[in-house]
Amino acid sequence: MSNIRFQALQSVFTRTIPEVKAPSTRISDYFGSNVFDKKKMKEYLSKEAYQSIIDSIDKGVPVDREIAEHIASALKTWAVSKGVTHYTHWFQPLTGTTAEKHDSFFEPGGDGSGIEKFSGDALAQQEPDASSFPNGGIRNTFEARGYTAWDPSSPAFIINQTLCIPTVFVSYTGEALDYKVPLLKALVALDKAAVDVCHYFDKGIEKVNASLGIEQEYFLVDLALFNARPDLLLTGRTLFGHMSAKSQQLEDHYFGSIPDRVLAYMQDFETEALKLGIPLKTRHNEVAPSQFECAPIYEEINLAIDHNQLLMDLMDKVALRHNFKVLLHEKPYAGVNGSGKHNNWSLITNTGKNLLSPGKTPKNNLMFLTFFVNVIRAVYEHADLLRASIASVTNDHRLGANEAPPAIISIFLGSQLNEVLDEIETARISRIMKDENSLWSGIPKIPPILRDNTDRNRTSPFAFTGNKFELRAVGSSANSSSPMTILNVIVADQLIKFKYDVDKLIKKGEKKDVALMTIIKKYIKESKAIRFEGNGYSEEWEKEAAARGLTNIKSTPKALDILLSEKTAELFNKTGVFSEREAHARHEILLESFYKKLQIEARVMGELINSAILPAAIIYQTKLVDNVRGLKEIGLEETAYNVQMDLIRKISNHINEVQTNAKQMLEERKKANVIEDMREKSIAYDEKVKGYFDTIRYHVDKLEQLVDDAQWPLPKFRELLFIK
Ligand code: ADP
Ligand code: MG
Repeated sequence: MSNIRFQALQSVFTRTIPEVKAPSTRISDYFGSNVFDKKKMKEYLSKEAYQSIIDSIDKGVPVDREIAEHIASALKTWAVSKGVTHYTHWFQPLTGTTAEKHDSFFEPGGDGSGIEKFSGDALAQQEPDASSFPNGGIRNTFEARGYTAWDPSSPAFIINQTLCIPTVFVSYTGEALDYKVPLLKALVALDKAAVDVCHYFDKGIEKVNASLGIEQEYFLVDLALFNARPDLLLTGRTLFGHMSAKSQQLEDHYFGSIPDRVLAYMQDFETEALKLGIPLKTRHNEVAPSQFECAPIYEEINLAIDHNQLLMDLMDKVALRHNFKVLLHEKPYAGVNGSGKHNNWSLITNTGKNLLSPGKTPKNNLMFLTFFVNVIRAVYEHADLLRASIASVTNDHRLGANEAPPAIISIFLGSQLNEVLDEIETARISRIMKDENSLWSGIPKIPPILRDNTDRNRTSPFAFTGNKFELRAVGSSANSSSPMTILNVIVADQLIKFKYDVDKLIKKGEKKDVALMTIIKKYIKESKAIRFEGNGYSEEWEKEAAARGLTNIKSTPKALDILLSEKTAELFNKTGVFSEREAHARHEILLESFYKKLQIEARVMGELINSAILPAAIIYQTKLVDNVRGLKEIGLEETAYNVQMDLIRKISNHINEVQTNAKQMLEERKKANVIEDMREKSIAYDEKVKGYFDTIRYHVDKLEQLVDDAQWPLPKFRELLFIK
């Protein structure tokens, strides 16, 4: 029987492309058809209930019980009309995936009959038996209850005959156990702080929200090949594999024509996503072979994140219909580019103004500069916290790997805006503000369309791109809530400080505009070190960043320390985003997941070595030995089997190295496993255990090159990356 690799290859060659048909040629005909959106709310709800939901979305006003009852009943009517039988609260626990627990609408009547029912209570709250979700010690086992509570700002939707209600997830004692609660709290803090600052310019602004557009990178691999790679299956990445002779060096994949089989898959998941109201807009090939990207049009941030979580889930499910597996891991293949999730972020007012969009008039420019400079100042002040928010065992492979931004947080502005800031920094305020009657006229002109908008610096982790900032360092598998909570909260905190500083000057008798410009100028000066326009991948930058005092923390367990610092505690406390207990719990959960993932990788490595790699190497080596023995027997001299002898020796050497290092790694694992302190344990796993990964892999990959191709059990990189 041929080995599993060849069986897998066999099935790939017989693949056919499933027919994909959108419900209509016009997307507008089916966009949002599976969402209880505003249009459907209007149709199914009373005026009063509709207004109540809108107030809840716009102003955070809670929906009262009676109205919830009415909304539940309307939701059920709509859902049942679409063939739905079950409902679930849909939430985002700290596992990183989404969770659901389905209940049926059906309730037996006791006389053999029954009805479909959905109460306001069931809409508002559920109590999932959730004692085994990560909680970082918040929930004692004797009080294992967790609650999910309805988030009316994200509309209910239907997947697979199930009505899904977006919810938050909290403990019995009210602590957040998910990603959504802190995000919503950060948005409340941001709204208040930003509106207060807006009032210097426009008293009519009542609300500020963040917007977010998430670009999602991913890899595709044939399902059979994926299943033949236990490392991909169990850890999401290849732990071994010699780089294919051709990889991305010809740069012939990026923006190239999309292969038919992939295109069918894209069309299929896009259709499903569009039905769920996810406004997908863009698709293209990415840099690495078999790497792709999709991006929606930006939305209100809470919804954008729900949509991204939902999208990742959809992409995974739909891929199976096409015999693909979608890889959302940050670095499935060493040696080619990894995947990220660019978070395009800006601030939008209820009047529709983008606060990060340079305006036409000098007054608008001052408003733009205010928010622009405050974001820079916030990132400067809390760069380490932003770094921590993107830290994970998987993203560690990508940051600083010369294809993704480094672990040093810096900001790219583009030359024009840099010049503007430099000009303000060096000019005298009296000159900028010119005369009394046209207070703003001396503000440097900011062109509404920026040159650097298209001419991007791809090496920067945080770049200004015309009318938004783009955080590029987020990992492809991450829940964007984690970095976005931090970004919003540090900006909120910064805006509070700004207002305090400006008001102080005004109280001293300074004119408002002079006060604003004085503080802007001060902030520009203070935060200068974070601005960097050069190549973020270069070694010089590492050196220069160190000289500037910027941190460069390369590993997750150390990057997370900042979560427990006094400065962070003060920030969280002031803005109400995390209690101290919650911050500690998150720290614990993140570390636990970090070391456990490395533990799994180490185990999978050990298993693969023993059960697949060494046996293949030994079988081939034995063949060579038999061959040499035969040649000797028939009386040939040594030169006739020199090559074989050399191969035999090389294979022996690599087998030996693999074995010895794997054994030493096991010893380090045993030592790490008994360490109680989670941080120490994670560092031991990171430095000691993971320290062996590269060496072991080096020798395994050498074996892959030496052993007869027909004997090699694991699909090779050229097969994983190029066969579609
Ligand atoms: P790229 O060249 O990086 O693909 P695009 O301009 O196409 O950049 O935008 C990428 C993402 O940024 C898209 O999701 C887009 O909707 C989003 N985006 C555009 N404007 C904003 C904004 N004001 N706020 C947030 N996201 C935005
Ligand atoms: Mg981008």
